[in-house]
Amino acid sequence: MRYRELGSTGWNVSALGFGAMNLPGVPYEQAHTALNEALDLGINYVDTAAGYRNSEEIIGQAISHRRKEFFLATKTAQRDYAGAKAEIERSLERMRTDTLDLLQIHYVNRPHEYNAAMAEDGAYQAALAAKREGKVRFIGITGHRPELLARWVRSGRFDTTLFHLNLGQPFAVNDLIPTLSELGMGRVAMKPLSGGFFQPVERALRYPYSQDVHVVLSGMASAEEVRQNLRAFEKEVEEQEQAELEALAGRLGGHDCRRCNYCTCPLGIPIPDVMISSRLRDEFGLLPKGDGFYQKHKDKLLSCADYEPCREQPLCQEKCPYHLPMAAVVRESAAYFS
Ligand code: SF4
Ligand code: SF4
Repeated sequence: MRYRELGSTGWNVSALGFGAMNLPGVPYEQAHTALNEALDLGINYVDTAAGYRNSEEIIGQAISHRRKEFFLATKTAQRDYAGAKAEIERSLERMRTDTLDLLQIHYVNRPHEYNAAMAEDGAYQAALAAKREGKVRFIGITGHRPELLARWVRSGRFDTTLFHLNLGQPFAVNDLIPTLSELGMGRVAMKPLSGGFFQPVERALRYPYSQDVHVVLSGMASAEEVRQNLRAFEKEVEEQEQAELEALAGRLGGHDCRRCNYCTCPLGIPIPDVMISSRLRDEFGLLPKGDGFYQKHKDKLLSCADYEPCREQPLCQEKCPYHLPMAAVVRESAAYFS
């Protein structure tokens, strides 16, 4: 597996990072084994968030005694100073550590959220104060809007950026990754499997691994998943494989949805999931997880075409900053059930 310095942090991080979001969903013993197996096998980047249920507590319980062996990243979705300060203190306590290597301002997708977090009384100032006190080493930002992130990182206030990158969402390669590279910043890719839709796992993981990123964060919750994920990182991606992966990403990402979640559907249709899986579904069919998603939402998906308030103008489309034809994609998805 490749190890590279994360931007200019001085830390040599493993190309595969442990995403701890799913740990609260499994028995503690399993989570404990997964985390320790990851460290034993050379993964040295662990990422969580204050908002991932008790994920931080599990990390504290399972691996705080090995704290020097890994780079620890967490996040706060608070936008104000007091809220972020309290959350940073809570993260330190829950993870039984004196220092967070990376504190990320979490899920910043709209300009007003960015402005609030960066204001004098905002979350960023709380992160800076924690940095001065030695409680935080580096500050990062996370979000789902690559073109906005590419603009915001030019402020020079962040050390790293965390963004989506998978075969169905290759958009960060256009502006964001080149901007971060130019600025010498840490580049961390998330959701390599898009929540489990994109398989086979090894092929899906090798797409972000083929790009200019330092860490690919994969959500893992068992020792078996750790070993399976690691297999994808055993050898470097050669030129021909990279070209094939990029061509595939070009096709599967043709829906253009960034998962910014600006859109909502009164029927409760999870529009971003339908959008992002649409090309994959048509090209390869769906694996059990994807099929389960479609079966679960079948009635809603079939109702879209007859939903009266959306007949003239689909309500969801008014909200999309990319002016995407979501209603048509949702309605076409009904063909999956015929
Ligand atoms: S067009 Fe369909 S997906 Fe969009 S808001 Fe209306 S019912 Fe929901
Ligand atoms: S369909 Fe548009 S608004 Fe909805 S998540 Fe995708 S990009 Fe965002």
